[in-house]
Amino acid sequence: SGTENRSADTSKRLTVLSGPSGVGKSTIVQEIRQHHPEVWLSVSMTTRAPRPSETDGVEYHFTTEDDFDRMIADGELLEWAGFSGNRYGTPRRPVVERLTAGIPVLLEIDLQGARQVRKTMPGAFHVFLAPPSWEELERRLTGRGTEPAEVVQRRLATAREELAAEKEFDATLVNTSVQDVRDELLTLILASRV
Ligand code: 5GP
Repeated sequence: SGTENRSADTSKRLTVLSGPSGVGKSTIVQEIRQHHPEVWLSVSMTTRAPRPSETDGVEYHFTTEDDFDRMIADGELLEWAGFSGNRYGTPRRPVVERLTAGIPVLLEIDLQGARQVRKTMPGAFHVFLAPPSWEELERRLTGRGTEPAEVVQRRLATAREELAAEKEFDATLVNTSVQDVRDELLTLILASRV
């Protein structure tokens, strides 16, 4: 029916950016936030503590385990996932409201979350952010600082598995230059996929 077609069309204004941990997704999103206010960036809920550079309501809504449980129970999350001891989720209502209003929406979420969105928002366009090379990703994951060797090893093993998820995606962008990826991503976000 016409109604079904219309709702399918709104999910086509949704773009999902995902990829391995450490590939630089949040840097790309920061670029979009600064240069492209015409794209609405979903602000995720998280139970992790804010980093010094982060502001509640901008990068994330920082919340408690209890409130996160409540949001799951009340069906308020479009998707959610556990990552590195914390939980992250996308509030459903603001996303649906923007899509219905014809505004393009970008979600930056992990691979587990992207799999959920593929099921619940079948029109969404999924973009995989890939590292320029395995060596580059390895350097980024090990160069972050002071973690014990076994933590780094676990992270590298996870990253190898995560790279294999590329085949599930509609498009891949290779993170060579932040500006290039930003421009290419914007083109994909604004492309008419109706
Ligand atoms: P960080 O703690 O470094 O900001 O984020 C850790 C991971 O959580 C990243 O891979 C990021 O993409 C992912 N993430 C952030 N928000 C969400 C969300 O709402 N849902 C899911 N599934 N993952 C998220």
